[in-house]
Amino acid sequence: MITKRLSTLLLTSCLSFASYADTLIHAGMVITANGDQVLNNVTIVVADNRIKSIDSGFASASAGDTVIDLKEYTVMPGLMDMHVHLSMQHGGPQTYLERFSNNEADYALNAAHYARKTLMAGFTTVRNLGDSYNETVALRKAINSGKAVGPRIFTSAKSIATTGGHADPTNGRNRMLTGDPGPVDGVVNGIADSRKAVRQRYKDGADLIKITATGGVLSVAKNGQNPQFMDDELEAIVSTAKDYGMTVAVHAHGKEGMERAIKAGVNSIEHGTYMDKDTFALMKKHDVYYVPTILAGNFVAEKAKIDGYFPALVRPKAAAIGPLIQRTFARAYEAGVRIAFGTDSGVSPHGDNAKEFVLMVEAGMPEMEAIQSATIHAASLINRQDELGSLMSNKLADMVAVKGNPLEDIRLMLDIPWVMKNGTVYKSH
Ligand SMILES: [Zn+2]
Repeated sequence: MITKRLSTLLLTSCLSFASYADTLIHAGMVITANGDQVLNNVTIVVADNRIKSIDSGFASASAGDTVIDLKEYTVMPGLMDMHVHLSMQHGGPQTYLERFSNNEADYALNAAHYARKTLMAGFTTVRNLGDSYNETVALRKAINSGKAVGPRIFTSAKSIATTGGHADPTNGRNRMLTGDPGPVDGVVNGIADSRKAVRQRYKDGADLIKITATGGVLSVAKNGQNPQFMDDELEAIVSTAKDYGMTVAVHAHGKEGMERAIKAGVNSIEHGTYMDKDTFALMKKHDVYYVPTILAGNFVAEKAKIDGYFPALVRPKAAAIGPLIQRTFARAYEAGVRIAFGTDSGVSPHGDNAKEFVLMVEAGMPEMEAIQSATIHAASLINRQDELGSLMSNKLADMVAVKGNPLEDIRLMLDIPWVMKNGTVYKSH
């Protein structure tokens, strides 16, 4: 009896506490990312980690409420980068030696450092598409339990490649160090390996699958665009991933390899350098997202001009493939391909993610659509549009603000002064 009364009392006081502890955000302008909706002079009410309501006018606070004054700012949903590598950052020739000197702990601590930078740049959600030792699975757990600061992470853990393919971790090593990596390490040949590699990632705690369907720029291998998976391997990867509720993200530069993957039913094509009008049609038909990573292309094209920055096998690939991505993006956008924002940060420095917005707008995408690609479209790519990607009641309280109007000057995104994730303010100045 006493216990029951006590618990009723506790419940009542908790409830009244919650209603007293609302956060009222007075926002001068809001880009909700529900279509092209823009609101002026509203109050966003946040209770715990969710948006309770968005009301017109600047509501006055009840006792205990916190008021955040963003009357001079534009508030948007938290930004989402669909392609990052938090555990590394390319820094010239020595990067290729790090795989011989770094241990798991080095990668894990790097990842924690870069995750914080990414959040401070306004990116409240990322897809991590490739790590080394499942360190981004551990980081996701640490962030979700409040032991580390960073964005919401959806990770593929270690990418899946074929022998000698773009994410074979032993590429470029001498025979003594090469060994014969298998599905646990993310190297597959044939159907059984492909299934096992997906199941291993499920067991390891990955959220999705990343494969390297064609050659890549930065691996120590000759070809940057050859197809590297056969149809039966792709089919095995996609159907197994579906069984475990995982989507499949595909690194691809060459046309043949990416078209095989699209036909197999994957969810996104990353980079997509040599896609053409047939590929655009195929992507639209199969409802596949394009994640362009223009920033990475431009970055490696610049670095390829420096002697010794890349190994001899890598330099010509970086010079040839890098500069093409922005043009591919422009054509894909014009063709009506669905686009989700992604930078491949880790190739370029973490925290510079928003430079991609500038490159997208420069290539012809209107500012509003560029912001939607990093919010509602990204949320839809990871099947979280019910909780993330736009500002409306009941969604998670992930949001950022810039001073001024980013629809008039997209460069405002380069320095995000205010960041809230899951109802907590991480940055305010
Ligand atoms: Zn990548």
